[in-house]
Amino acid sequence: MRNAEWGMMRAMLLRQPEPVGQNPLELTDLPLPEPLPGQVRLRVRACGVCHTDLHLAEGEIATPRLPIVPGHQVVGVVEALGQGVNRFAVGDRVGVPWLYSACGQCEYCRRGQENLCDHARFTGQHADGGFAEFMVVPADFAYPIPAGFPDEQAAPLLCAGVIGYRSLRLSDIRPGGRLGLYGFGASAHVTIQVARHWGCQVYVFTRSAEHQRHALELGASWVGQAEDTPPHPLDSAITFAPAGWLVPHALRVLRKGGTLAINAIHMSPIPELPYALLYGERTVRSVANATRQDAGELLQLAAEIPLRTDVELYPLEEANTVLQRLKRGQVRGAAVLKIGE
Ligand SMILES: [Zn+2]
Ligand SMILES: [Zn+2]
Repeated sequence: MRNAEWGMMRAMLLRQPEPVGQNPLELTDLPLPEPLPGQVRLRVRACGVCHTDLHLAEGEIATPRLPIVPGHQVVGVVEALGQGVNRFAVGDRVGVPWLYSACGQCEYCRRGQENLCDHARFTGQHADGGFAEFMVVPADFAYPIPAGFPDEQAAPLLCAGVIGYRSLRLSDIRPGGRLGLYGFGASAHVTIQVARHWGCQVYVFTRSAEHQRHALELGASWVGQAEDTPPHPLDSAITFAPAGWLVPHALRVLRKGGTLAINAIHMSPIPELPYALLYGERTVRSVANATRQDAGELLQLAAEIPLRTDVELYPLEEANTVLQRLKRGQVRGAAVLKIGE
C-alpha cells in the first residue's frame, strides 16, 4: 500500500493466458486507476477467486483485453468519487460482482435481463478487477455490504453467492422441495444455506470425501457420487462443475416436470442422451451471469439468514497457487485473497 502515495499499486496481472501450473499471473506495479464520471475508486480489502478466473487465466474464456487484472468478488472501501456520483460516499464499504456494466438500452436490459445485455462488460474480463490494491467501478454496479460480514466472508457472496442464488431461482425449486447439487465448491456451499433456509431437502453429489463432509455439516439430507441414485426423485437440480457428462446423470434422477439449471460459464460437451431422459416435460437451462437485483436480494438474504461462508485466505501474491488449488478441487468453501486493511 506504500506505493499509493506515489500513484502506484500492486496487482496480479494476466498478460497471456497459460495453464495455471505455469503461473500466468504476474505481480506488477500499475498506475493507480482514476475514476471516470459515474465511477468510484475502491481500496480493495478482499477478493474472492472463482472458476471463471481459472477459465480466464487458462484462455477457455476469451479476454478481449490483455493484459488484464482478474478478480470479480471484490470488497473494498470507497476512496475517491468520479464526477456525479452520489450513490456512495468516501469511506463506504462496497462489493463488486462479475457484472461490471450493462448498456441499459438493449432489448435485454429493457426486459429486466441485464445479465444477458448485448453490451455487458464483466469485471476482470473487460475491465481491471480486484486482484489489486485498488480498482475503479461504475457506482451503479457496486453494492453496499451488510454490516457484520467481515470482508473476507462477504467476498464470496459476490459471485459464488449471487450466481448460486440465481441458479436456485432458475431451478424453480419451491420451499420444501427436493434439490440436487452436483459439485460442492464455493457456490454450492452458499446455495445449500439458502435452500435450507427455504426448508428444502438437499442432495449433494460430489466425489470429494472432504466436500461430502462439508455438505453434511451444512445440512445436506444425503450425499453421494454423481453416478449414485438418491432415495427420492428430485424436483430440481443444479450442476456447478464445468463437466457436461454430469447432465445425463442429473436428468436421470429428476422427476417429471423437474428442472435442471446449469451453473457454468464454460462446460465440456454434453454427451448425446436418450430422449427419454428429457421427456416428461423436464427442463434443462443454463444460468448466465446475474442481475443487480439478484445481487441486492442475495446480500439482503445473507444478512437475514445469516449466511456463513467458509474461506481459505491467501495473500495477493499467491493468486497463482489459489488457481492451482481450485483446478485440483482442493479448496474447501471459497478461496479469498486478503489484500488491504
Ligand atoms: Zn443492454
Ligand atoms: Zn465468479
